[in-house]
Amino acid sequence: MAGRVQGKVALVTGGSSGIGRACAERLAQEGAIVVLTDLQDEKGQALAAEIEANGGKAQYRHQDVTSEQEWIDTVAAIKADHGRLDILVNNAGIGISGSVLDMALSDFQRQVAINLDGVFLGVKHSIPLMRASGEGGSIINMSSVAGLKGSAILAGYCATKGGVRLFTKAVAMECGNAKDGIRVNSVHPGIIETPIWDDIIGTGEAGDNARPPRAQVLDAMSAEAVPLGGKGYPLDIANGVLWLASEESRYVTGAELVIDGGLSVK
Ligand code: NAP
Repeated sequence: MAGRVQGKVALVTGGSSGIGRACAERLAQEGAIVVLTDLQDEKGQALAAEIEANGGKAQYRHQDVTSEQEWIDTVAAIKADHGRLDILVNNAGIGISGSVLDMALSDFQRQVAINLDGVFLGVKHSIPLMRASGEGGSIINMSSVAGLKGSAILAGYCATKGGVRLFTKAVAMECGNAKDGIRVNSVHPGIIETPIWDDIIGTGEAGDNARPPRAQVLDAMSAEAVPLGGKGYPLDIANGVLWLASEESRYVTGAELVIDGGLSVK
């Protein structure tokens, strides 16, 4: 039986870790040819090899999403290798926490460069190749619950994720006007267990004696805050991304897919 994204070519940024990793695995399981990019080369190469060993199709490429030249090179390589691009998951991101009074301008700008400029560059340089097939495509931009409501310790992060939310809707309208068949949506994860939290709340991997264990801290945090109870996992987000990538969501554009166990409705 054909997979849900059989034969589609997908680019996933930040694909070596956490949510991006799960997206790469899930899209490959459903038949996509996945190009995953990241700064973490060893992990990315190992993941691509693992996907291939499991019968999927994947390749890893080093890519810093803040570099316009690396976007141009990445899209050119996809065109040369595969001739088309059907799915773009703009997932790479970082989180820098703390009071806005203490935040260095350089940290604010670094977060904007990765979380917002990176999404802009991805959209700008991918749409021409998506359009060239004449078959449309799906762009999925990773926002956050922090793009829907404020957080006292995440002002800079909220600024970037709120930006991704409305940038997504504007590009959805632009593609709609062009009648190019490209759908553009944002995904808003809640508390998902990934390494991003280590920088935000100072946790670490299990067994790291210097820092409190990430899994338990997130358990405690989400037990109270999340109506469904408990944190989410990268696969919870990847399943939503897969739906947005597939033809099952063919009539969905400019939408916000919130996957947060109800966190944002409180
Ligand atoms: P993660 O495990 O830290 O994965 C993010 C990946 O992106 C890492 O491999 C990271 O590399 C990479 N990256 C960072 N800067 C990059 C750059 N300039 N160019 C290319 N890759 C870069 O975090 P995650 O939780 O999976 O986050 C994925 C996305 O989900 C992010 O956009 C995040 O804001 C969003 N999100 C996450 C949660 C959550 O609870 N986990 C909630 C809401 C939204 P390094 O490790 O070297 O930085």
